[in-house]
Amino acid sequence: MKNIYFTVGPTQLYPTIGKHLQTAIKNVVGSQNHRGPWFHDLFAETTQKLKTLLSIPKTYQIFFCSSGTESMERSIQNLTEKKSFHVITGAFGKRWASIAKEMGKEPELYRHPKLDSGSSLDFGSESGMTVPTDSEMICFTQNDTSTGMWIDPNLITKTKKQFPKKLIAVDVVSSIPYVDLDYKSIDTVFFSVQKGFGLPAGLGIIIVSPAAIEKADYLLKKGISIGSYHNFPTLLKYAQKSETPETPTVLHLWLLSKVLEDMLKIGIDTIRYETREKSALLYDFFKTHSKWQPFVTEQTFQSPTTLAIDFSNQTEDIKQHLQKKGIIVGSGYGEYKSKHLRIANFPAHKKEDIQNLINELSTY
Ligand SMILES: *Cc1c(COP(=O)(O)O)cnc(C)c1O
Repeated sequence: MKNIYFTVGPTQLYPTIGKHLQTAIKNVVGSQNHRGPWFHDLFAETTQKLKTLLSIPKTYQIFFCSSGTESMERSIQNLTEKKSFHVITGAFGKRWASIAKEMGKEPELYRHPKLDSGSSLDFGSESGMTVPTDSEMICFTQNDTSTGMWIDPNLITKTKKQFPKKLIAVDVVSSIPYVDLDYKSIDTVFFSVQKGFGLPAGLGIIIVSPAAIEKADYLLKKGISIGSYHNFPTLLKYAQKSETPETPTVLHLWLLSKVLEDMLKIGIDTIRYETREKSALLYDFFKTHSKWQPFVTEQTFQSPTTLAIDFSNQTEDIKQHLQKKGIIVGSGYGEYKSKHLRIANFPAHKKEDIQNLINELSTY
């Protein structure tokens, strides 16, 4: 029996990955020169497809790196001299803030006091946040995979309107390609490919605005270290030649390009519609369940793509029960390890897979 992976990342591979791996071998992708025309085409096509699928403005740049975690570090290093402001909805947001600290910056954390009890984050009217005037960048973990807490993209847009001079950075590692962002109000967006795109792990993507490039240039001129080969000006210099500073993971770029092509054929509206439909099936099931409840209680804050469900003392039993049926779900994150299970709802998960998971849960 083949397992199906509802883990939040790495997760179920996108259904066409096997086929694309075979064509990659046939095309000897692993031996292609990364400074030649073959690679230039791959780079240009991949970034163009990504821009088309997600409606990313033409003036924005797309850079490749190794992971979501690297992107956290790069955003801090290239975009802040001292102060970043972090909206914390779970462990990934905290990780980002601690990276800032480790880099000798002064992050400020905005953490909702009710977060631990699982109540939703209430930004109130406007954003409701008091952001210090000297904060240079506001960081959102738009979908914190540790808690299954979702921040409405409209709130991010509103925040930019409220603080137009501050840079806005957004982690969408576990919500892309579903999340529909207003890129014009964001200066850096990042993700890795082992979640919503259903690729093997090892490739990160950073999308940056012209203002973000300007800030990195400014810091560099001021003599502040913004890193070396993966700083934004260097990444830009190479991107303009459709290249990367280092020898990149060409196989990943190939797979991403092919999966983007598949997704473009299906259409982003259909992908988003299907994600909502599958998410509704899951949340409806848990809403009527007597014991098992989503960790995030308020609907607006419930992630459609990564659900954290409180199974309390049945957690391990349920995980085993599902595993026997070839259904692999994720454990809870960190402090929630023994209480939660996490379920991914990505484009690689079909409606029948979700229905099958629900059936197995209801017969437990
Ligand atoms: C998985 C994840 C990360 C880390 O990404 P890596 O590619 O594993 O470094 C960061 N943020 C969020 C929200 C994630 O879900």
